[in-house]
Amino acid sequence: MQGFVYFFLFVFGTVFGSFFHVLNTRGPMNESIIKPGSYCSDCKHALKWYDLIPLLSYLFNGGKCHYCKKKISFEYFAVEFSTGMLFCLAYYLYGPSFSYELVVCITLFSLCINIYISDFKYYIILDSPLLVTSILVMVFKIFFFDFKTLIIAIVSGLMLFTFMLLIKKIGDFAFKRESLGGGDIKLSFVVGLILGLRLGLCALILSTFLAFPYAFLNLFLGQKKEVPFGPFIISACAIIYVFLPKFVNLLNYLFIYIM
Ligand SMILES: [Zn+2]
Repeated sequence: MQGFVYFFLFVFGTVFGSFFHVLNTRGPMNESIIKPGSYCSDCKHALKWYDLIPLLSYLFNGGKCHYCKKKISFEYFAVEFSTGMLFCLAYYLYGPSFSYELVVCITLFSLCINIYISDFKYYIILDSPLLVTSILVMVFKIFFFDFKTLIIAIVSGLMLFTFMLLIKKIGDFAFKRESLGGGDIKLSFVVGLILGLRLGLCALILSTFLAFPYAFLNLFLGQKKEVPFGPFIISACAIIYVFLPKFVNLLNYLFIYIM
């Protein structure tokens, strides 16, 4: 039975991964995700349903286009596979019962994939994944808890949003250029919604530590590319969410023995 659930979640995840890939590669280009249907980026041949089965189509065609035999980016396979694995990981961590932790974890992991694709490739975080995540988390708060929990979460989100907006205004003024993207600020609302104010602040601090090695490596390798901040904010959020109980214990420990 457990094996069946993992299999189902994995397949479910690969289908979602496939959708996230289309959304976050077409969205930043202002292309519709419905029309035209999927096509090969080389020969523009429209793809049939059997060319679009997550993972399997890629494997059966040996990573090449069914029609022109040009190599297809490994990114498709990687995104579908990782989303499937992350859905299974969420179930491994918070299953088997249908809990708040489980559904939020799946939602959070999905947002991670969305942001990794669009922000690393195009330096953009689309509004739609942020909006859908916010609505889902709010619905889960009401469904599993109560109205009061929802209001506290929204206020936490708004406070983190305002905090990041202030940092942006100061940063823009100090560096005379855009210091933080609008997507990063909207994302901090989602972080507050999921983690609450205190842990949300911890996530924002942790994200700068996570971004630092990437920025350093970028500079070291002589690539003067911009550093997207979104992937590090959402990664920090996911890390704190998954290690939440351990993290709270550590904080309590520190507060008791230091203060
Ligand atoms: Zn082709």
